[in-house]
Amino acid sequence: MHILSKSTYIKGLQCEKALYMQKKHPYLRDKLSIEQRAKFQRGTDVGVLAHDYFPGGIDMSPSSPSQFPKKVNETMDNLNNPEVNVMYEAVFQHNDTLIMLDMLVRDGDKWLAVEVKSSLRLSDTYYNDAALQYYVLHGCQVPLSDFRLMYLNADYVKNGPIDVKQLFKLESVMDYVIEREAFVAQNVERLKAVVALPHSPLVDIGTQCHNPYPCDFQGHCWKHIPKDSFLFTNAIDDETLFQNYFNGVNTNAKMLQKVAPDSLEAHQIEALETNSYYIDYKTLYALSPQPKPKSVAYLNLLLHRPAVPEIDGTKPYEEMILAFALQGEHECDAAIDPRQRTNQRWDDMAADASKCFVWDCFDDHSRWKEAITLLIEKLSHYKQIVCFTPQNLSTTLLRHEIIRNQTIGYKVFNLFDVLQQAAFYHPIIKRGFTLQNLSEALFEDCKLFEHSRIILEATSNDLLGYQQAREDLIAENEMVAKTYQHLFK
Ligand code: SF4
Repeated sequence: MHILSKSTYIKGLQCEKALYMQKKHPYLRDKLSIEQRAKFQRGTDVGVLAHDYFPGGIDMSPSSPSQFPKKVNETMDNLNNPEVNVMYEAVFQHNDTLIMLDMLVRDGDKWLAVEVKSSLRLSDTYYNDAALQYYVLHGCQVPLSDFRLMYLNADYVKNGPIDVKQLFKLESVMDYVIEREAFVAQNVERLKAVVALPHSPLVDIGTQCHNPYPCDFQGHCWKHIPKDSFLFTNAIDDETLFQNYFNGVNTNAKMLQKVAPDSLEAHQIEALETNSYYIDYKTLYALSPQPKPKSVAYLNLLLHRPAVPEIDGTKPYEEMILAFALQGEHECDAAIDPRQRTNQRWDDMAADASKCFVWDCFDDHSRWKEAITLLIEKLSHYKQIVCFTPQNLSTTLLRHEIIRNQTIGYKVFNLFDVLQQAAFYHPIIKRGFTLQNLSEALFEDCKLFEHSRIILEATSNDLLGYQQAREDLIAENEMVAKTYQHLFK
């Protein structure tokens, strides 16, 4: 049986303890977030589509991990079978390291290795992946003509059925992977030794816990750190935080001596200790419109960016508006009054928040441009549009020509940006400034749904999911309205 795989090797490069835990105590991993699961699924879907670039291949995927040895043997047999020209998920093992290569294509008397990525550009991690795969392929003495990474072509525009030859781009990384082979060999030996240890390596928490990826053993490794520790501030960079931590600064009182009084760093530590929030009200009020607009609407857009374009005229990851909820005084017709709903979440809905109009095209994404016409008409009734989104809503509205410029009668007021500019901080924000965290920070009694559920359920073919997604859009809008009115009452 193998000891390392592509994912455990990459994990080991980030932290030896993470590798050990993954191999010996995988049950201690943090729960995978819905976003992470969606990302994995997207990668799988693109990988399967990429097979059409080199069609007619044999799928070598094992049905279970116990099949790996059998598939390794079959893959090696196929290399010598002149009738096999393409293999998908070919399984190779060398020096206790197992890989599954997306595509292996016969190229004269050699083979072309292809690894597929569902992104628009290549990153260091992809190069590291490829270097490990080359190390194993070379160890198995597979004669390679080239090693290429395949990724999505940002300029591809769908016109009829997907043209995989245009959708994907190929980039040779042969020179890089050859140059990295010795480095990989060293690391494979080092990481195999880690897995063979009788106990977990002694690795203290550090910057590697968040970089390059948030580690999924933080729930385990960080459990001795008090929830109000200065390590959860975000006004101080990780390098500085851990430098202090390793130099014996292990309490908030000691850390407070290291930062200027009345500084943002000090305010955040105080917020941690009192489990309350900090906000620079002076900046907040300076950012708020004067005088207060009479006609305010709350807008929540659900955007969809499919890796593989779904609609003619669109590109990979091109943004579509899949649904929106608009809450405001002019939404009296065709509206859903949130206060009439049986699962009402907040009794103290602001009196002027009025009603909510919801539109979606979950069942037929080709109708998405209808949202543009509707929004142009509806937004024109309001002086101000309030939202909470990590995206720049003005840019989104401009991109879809819902507004022509930002000065035509209303203005976007994005609480996500405004609150960050006003240095909003609460312990629950830690490293994620989400609407769910914000709601819990401001309103103790408020337990918001899991926001990302919208993304999954809206893209499923499940009518119940659609209904839930619509409910979630409205509930988020209510939360934005409640937050806005709380801060600017
Ligand atoms: S949480 Fe940090 S120390 Fe623990 S395994 Fe992950 S990276 Fe390593």
